[in-house]
Amino acid sequence: MVDMHSARADIGVIGGSGFYSFLEDVTEVTVMTPYGSPSDSLFVGELAGRKVAFLPRHGRGHHLPPHRINYRANLWALRSLGVRQVLAPCAVGGLQPQYGPGTLVVPDQLVDRTKARAQSYFDGEMLPDGRVPNVVHTSFADPYCPTGRAVAVAVARGHGWEPVVDGGTMVVIEGPRFSTRAESRWHAAQGWTVVGMTGHPEAVLARELELCYTSMALVTDLDAGAETGEGVSHDEVMRVFGENVGRLREVLFAAVTALPETKERGCLCADVHKGWDLGIELP
Ligand SMILES: [Zn+2]
Repeated sequence: MVDMHSARADIGVIGGSGFYSFLEDVTEVTVMTPYGSPSDSLFVGELAGRKVAFLPRHGRGHHLPPHRINYRANLWALRSLGVRQVLAPCAVGGLQPQYGPGTLVVPDQLVDRTKARAQSYFDGEMLPDGRVPNVVHTSFADPYCPTGRAVAVAVARGHGWEPVVDGGTMVVIEGPRFSTRAESRWHAAQGWTVVGMTGHPEAVLARELELCYTSMALVTDLDAGAETGEGVSHDEVMRVFGENVGRLREVLFAAVTALPETKERGCLCADVHKGWDLGIELP
């Protein structure tokens, strides 16, 4: 294990050991943040010349439920290793019957239905260095990086993934319980595409840290309102995720190598605070 000053990365992947355990040379890095500890150590490795930091969202052993994840510490830790572009695979429920298990959704919109999660760095809390963030209102109209999204869609399609949904809305619920049928029917009736528990505040915190953030949502089940059976079961979710983790890893690795160099991103994610005085230094 090494400290955070000796390992750097420019791409971050928020996902578990199913992804990084296949890299040959991985360095485990512990990172402390003003917001406490991230979900786990970060695992830094190299893929086709790109330095990547993997962070198991739920901790190794998957012990953290979605509402207990320290999202602020996770994104801060990634940025403090140098990460500027983040790929965020996650498991979701499908809200529309045509997008069943195995569908890969690269959403372009998000609806926040979480209830009790810290979702800003600009909340007036003093940092250990004595500085207090200013009041800052971050643009979030388009919550995902257009460059990262285009890469993820192209790479998944190039690998023959079927279907790949380019766009769509992810609604994020507090959890850890699944939706009732009434909630699920309501989500579907809004035209939303998938439902998950971790996509927020991950996305907004990435934006506040001026990171490019791209969600890659694997549908593992149809949500309670979109099917007629027993409703969502955890066993089913884990089974479908297990069946797809290999090809998801292939697509993810290909996306990592296809992302542009950070200074050639061509998106506005890093310019989101132009004209604002943040009052703090981002790591
Ligand atoms: Zn971007």
